[in-house]
Amino acid sequence: MEKNSWGRIRTELHASIGGDAFKNWIDPLVFDGVDGTIARFTVPTSFMGNWVSRNYGDAILHLFSVEEVHVDRLEFNAAAHSNANVKPVKSAEKPAVQGKELPSSPLDDRFTFDNFVVGKPNELAHAAARRVAEGGPVSFNPLFLYGGVGLGKTHLMHAIAHEVKQRNPLARVLYISAEQFMYRFVQALRFKDMYTFKELFRSVDVLMVDDVQFIAGKDSTQDEFFHTFNALIENNKQIIISADRSPGEIDGLEDRIKSRMQCGLVVDLHPTDYELRLGILQSKTEAQIKLNPGVEMDMRVLEFLAHRISSNVRVLEGALTRLIAFSSLVGREITLDMAQECLTDILRASERKVTIDEIQRKVADHFNLRMSDLLSARRARAVARPRQVAMFLSKMLTSKSLPEIGRKFGGRDHTTVIHAVKRIEELKQSDSQIAEDVELLRRMLEA
Ligand code: ADP
Ligand code: MG
Repeated sequence: MEKNSWGRIRTELHASIGGDAFKNWIDPLVFDGVDGTIARFTVPTSFMGNWVSRNYGDAILHLFSVEEVHVDRLEFNAAAHSNANVKPVKSAEKPAVQGKELPSSPLDDRFTFDNFVVGKPNELAHAAARRVAEGGPVSFNPLFLYGGVGLGKTHLMHAIAHEVKQRNPLARVLYISAEQFMYRFVQALRFKDMYTFKELFRSVDVLMVDDVQFIAGKDSTQDEFFHTFNALIENNKQIIISADRSPGEIDGLEDRIKSRMQCGLVVDLHPTDYELRLGILQSKTEAQIKLNPGVEMDMRVLEFLAHRISSNVRVLEGALTRLIAFSSLVGREITLDMAQECLTDILRASERKVTIDEIQRKVADHFNLRMSDLLSARRARAVARPRQVAMFLSKMLTSKSLPEIGRKFGGRDHTTVIHAVKRIEELKQSDSQIAEDVELLRRMLEA
């Protein structure tokens, strides 16, 4: 008869708390009956018992009284796997978060340190990641990795996770994208489940949040992130964060978060250079040829790819995979001609087209100016010189005409552009600082 009551109480709860919360918290309860005035339940974990008691206890008691079943206390017994080990939950007991699954995003098995090719552009990031993975006193906290798309940020983070787990299988490592972090946060708000959310994120040893630029401008998520962040740092837990830009450059990220992130070690993954690309291609070729016996790779083809595809490693890998698949399926030898034919689209997309906008942005960044200053009519040397550099680079690196360039710089006359180009050419001879700036910018833009 009490069982029937419980059935109706369940129906009521389902209607009042909603399907998801019901599924998470009420459905797993096994009602063992009423003993005197105590209603007893078996729950999968003591954490869960605590949670239900705290959040739905009053509602359940109330519904028992509606059913005219006299209950004045609920007791939840955690069933540890087998029912043999039933232990009552004391309400003061700390939630058994330890037993909970971490909501970690899946890790890619291939993203290990062994498979990461180290070169000049990524050696610092790699060394820092290694150091963090090796544990010991937390020295770089947080470790902030940033760099453009496909340069290996996610790979390094997964590698840290693999390594930490291998060294200490009990370590609680949580890798999550910022997007997932936000999704879970919003879910927690919706289902009034902040407690679990906070406990989970605060109970880890290593927290990694990938692509953190995603939460820029999302204020309440940032706020929660900030608190999680502080709580972990205070407890000396390691945090690793990645983004596509440096903390200072992420618009819409709160200043207190930026400065917190800058307290640790901030390292960037530079765009790959030719040597690194060739190294990566060799390493990936070896791995792929093992899976496709009979395929042979011509070193000249790898060199060609490393030259021509400089955008990001993912594209490089895609090209290689396609070549090897093609050769293996059609039985054709991989030659330069074959590669050019087979990869026409990728090669065309990778042709480096520098735009004036890009040049202006890079130059403004480099000289610490705002874009609006660069395009303004101001003639102060601190602004005028960088503007001339940008015009010079626009002439050198794009196929735009002088009037077109002038228009892009706040509607200036083409003679201004001619003057700028001449001036920078002269200065490059006499002023080594300018020569260096121009060279550096050119290399960055052509990378
Ligand atoms: P990001 O997260 O920076 O956008 P990923 O870590 O996802 O880039 O890397 C993109 C792809 O390139 C992955 O398949 C990764 O394994 C590969 N990759 C990037 N850098 C390296 C490297 N140094 N050595 C080997 N593979 C790399
Ligand atoms: Mg990534």
